[in-house]
Amino acid sequence: MRNLPSALRWIRRLSLSARFGLLSAALVALLGVALGSWSADRIRRSNVDEAVRLIGYTNATTLYTLSHLGNADLPHNQDIRTDLGNLMIDASIHSKRLVGLIVWSASGQVVYASAPLTRTAMRHAPRELASAFAGQTHTRLIASADAVTDPGLHAIIAKAGPVLQIVSPDGASTGAARAVLQSLIPWRPVENNIRHQTMLMSGALLGGLFVFWLALFRLVTRASRRLREQADRNHNLANHDPLTGLPNRELLRRRTLASIRRANRSGRRVALLLFDLDRFKEINDTLGHHHGDLLLQEIGPRLSRVMREGDCIARLGGDEFVVLLPDVADAVHAQTLGRRIRAELAAPFVLEGVSLDVEASVGIAVTPEHGTDFQALLQHADVAMYVAKKAHLGLSVYDRVLDDHSPMRLALISELRAALADPGQFVLHYQPKLDMKSGKLAGFEALVRWQHPERGLLVPDEFIPDAERTGMIRTLTDLVLSEAVRQVNVWKQAGVKMPVAVNLSTRCLLDPQFPDDVGALLAAHGIAGSELDLEITESAIMADPERAHEILTRLVALGIGISIDDFGTGYSSMAHLKRLPIDQIKIDKSFVIDLVDNPNDAAIVRSMVDLARGLGLGVVAEGVETEETWRHLHDLGCTSAQGFYLSRPLAAEDVLPWVATHRARKTIPAARSVRAGSGPR
Ligand code: C2E
Ligand code: CA
Ligand code: CA
Repeated sequence: MRNLPSALRWIRRLSLSARFGLLSAALVALLGVALGSWSADRIRRSNVDEAVRLIGYTNATTLYTLSHLGNADLPHNQDIRTDLGNLMIDASIHSKRLVGLIVWSASGQVVYASAPLTRTAMRHAPRELASAFAGQTHTRLIASADAVTDPGLHAIIAKAGPVLQIVSPDGASTGAARAVLQSLIPWRPVENNIRHQTMLMSGALLGGLFVFWLALFRLVTRASRRLREQADRNHNLANHDPLTGLPNRELLRRRTLASIRRANRSGRRVALLLFDLDRFKEINDTLGHHHGDLLLQEIGPRLSRVMREGDCIARLGGDEFVVLLPDVADAVHAQTLGRRIRAELAAPFVLEGVSLDVEASVGIAVTPEHGTDFQALLQHADVAMYVAKKAHLGLSVYDRVLDDHSPMRLALISELRAALADPGQFVLHYQPKLDMKSGKLAGFEALVRWQHPERGLLVPDEFIPDAERTGMIRTLTDLVLSEAVRQVNVWKQAGVKMPVAVNLSTRCLLDPQFPDDVGALLAAHGIAGSELDLEITESAIMADPERAHEILTRLVALGIGISIDDFGTGYSSMAHLKRLPIDQIKIDKSFVIDLVDNPNDAAIVRSMVDLARGLGLGVVAEGVETEETWRHLHDLGCTSAQGFYLSRPLAAEDVLPWVATHRARKTIPAARSVRAGSGPR
C-alpha cells in the first residue's frame, strides 16, 4: 500500500499516450477476462448439451423398447431388454460413448440397468429424479467414485473415471413421464473437447483483443498528436503576429521582463527601440495594402542582419515595431544600434518590381533610467519615437523633459532642425574679456542667439538644452565655430587681432572626428590655432574623462587655448584638472555676482584663484557686474574678467565701435556700474 503513491507519481510522470496505453491495456485485459470466462462457460455448456444430444439416440431406442411394454407403470421385475435395444446400448457402451444406463419407474424402481449394473445394485435413485419426472433434464459431473454410494455405480466410475450423469424424462408422450433415464457418459472426451475449444477461443480472443487495443491505441495517439499540433499552432498564433510571423506584444512583454530580471543580476541594461515607418500610410494608399503587407513582412528579415543573438524584433501592430536589446551598456550603445537599424531600413525595398524608400523614426528607452518594467519602457520609447518623428530627428532617446507632450516644445525642436539647415537664423553675439592688470582687451566669447522668425531673438537657454538632448548640438557647434572663425578674419582685416572663444558641448568631446574638423576649419580660413579658444564645462569632461583627455590633447596640439567654463559648479577635482592640457579656468558667475556682499563666495573665489595660480593656470572671472567686484577680483589676483560691468554681449557690427571706444579710454574701470537686467542684452 505504501508503494501506491509512488506508483501514482511514476504514472503521472509518463507521457499522456503511455498513460493511455497502460490504462487501455488494463481495461482491455479486464474485458478479455470477462469475455473469456463467459465464452468458456458457453463452450462447456454447449459440449454438455452436445453430449446429451448424442446420447439421445441410444436413449430413444431404450424408450422405444419401453413403449412396447405398454405398461402404465413398469413392474420392477420385468426385463425390458429387447434384442434391438440391447444391441444399441451394448454398441454405445462398447464404443465408450456410454458407460451405464439405468431406467427408473415413477414408483422409484429400477426397471432396467445396463450391464454390468444390476437392478439390485442400484439402491439410490438420483436426487434429480422427481424433477425429471416433472419433465426436466439434469446433467451433473461426478468427478470421483467416492461421490456415489451405490456399489454398482461406484465400480463403474472407479474404472471409467469421471462421468457426466444425465437424468432425463422419457418424453415419449404428453403428460407426466413414465420413466426417467439415468445415463452415464464418460467425461474425459467431453472435457478434452472443452479444453481444446477453450484454448482455440482464448487464442482468438487474445489476438482479437490485441488487434483491437492496438487499433484503439493508434487511433488515440494519432488524435492526441493532432490535438497537440493544433495546440502548438494556437500557442504560436497567440504569441505571434499572423502577417509577419514576428513575436507580438504579449511575447515581447514576457521576453522583456525576463531580460530585465537577468540584467538586474548582471548589472547591464535592457533597451527597447520602438520605430514606425515614416509615410507608411502613403505607401498603403498609393500602392495598395498588398504592397504595404509585403513591406511589413520584409522588415523582420531585413533587420535580422543587424540583430545579435538574443535580440528580438516584435510587431506591435500597424507599422509599429519594437526591437528588444536585452544587453546594452548604456543609452549611447542603444543609439548606435538604433542608427544601424535606420541605416538598414534606408536601403530601398524592392517589392514585386516596385522600389520603395523607407525611413523609420526610432524612439529609445533604457533601463533603469527610463523605467524598470515593460509598460514604462514601452511607453517612454513611444514618447521618444513621437519626438523623433515630429522633430524629424530620425532617432531620439527618451527624456523626461520632452515628455510633457507639449506641442509647443515639439514644434520648437522641429523648427530648430529646420533652422539648422538655414543657418541665417543663428547669430553670434560677442562679449569682451579684459585683462585685469592692463585693462586691455584679451578676447571675445561668442554667444549664440536664434533669430526665430516668429518668436524673436531667443537666448541659448531656450534652445541649447533641446539641441543637446536631440544631438543637434553638433551641427549647431559647427555652425558657431565657422561663423566665429569667419568673424575673426573680418576683424583681423580691420586691424583688431583678438582670439574668440567658442562654447563646446559634451558631444564634441566624445567625437573623435571633432579635432580634425576644427583643424580643417582653421586651415580653410587661414587662422592660427592661437586665435581660437574653446570653453568646456567640467561635466562635459567628466562624461568620459579618458576620451575627453585625448580629444583635448589633439585640440591643444593645434595651438587652441582651452578654458574650463562654469568652474566650481561641477565635481572635477583639482588633482584631475592638473592632468588636463588646459590654459585657464572661468570662475562661474554664481560665485562672482555677490562676491562683495557674501564672504563665503569671496572665500571660495580666493581659494580657486590660489589653486589655479599654483597650477600655473589663468583665472577668468565671469559675471562681473560692478566696479567693486572688479576691484575685489583684481586684488585677489584674477587674470581677466568678463561681465556686464565691462560690456554686455555685443552684436557683431557693434564690436569694432566698442573696441575703438575702449581703446580711447585711459582707465579701467571706465564703464558705469550695471546690475543684471538693466541695459541691452
Ligand atoms: P556661459 O558660457 O556661462 O556664457 C556666459 C553667459 O553669462 C552668457 O549668457 C552671458 O550673456 C552671461 N553673462 C555675461 N556677463 C554677465 C554678467 O555680468 N551677469 C550675468 N548675470 N550674466 C552675464 P548667454 O549668452 O545667455 O548664454 C548662456 C549659456 O548658453 C552660456 O553660458 C553657454 O553655456 C551657452 N551657450 C551660449 N552660446 C553657446 C554656443 O554657441 N554653444 C554652446 N554649446 N553653448 C552656448
Ligand atoms: Ca562660456
Ligand atoms: Ca560660464
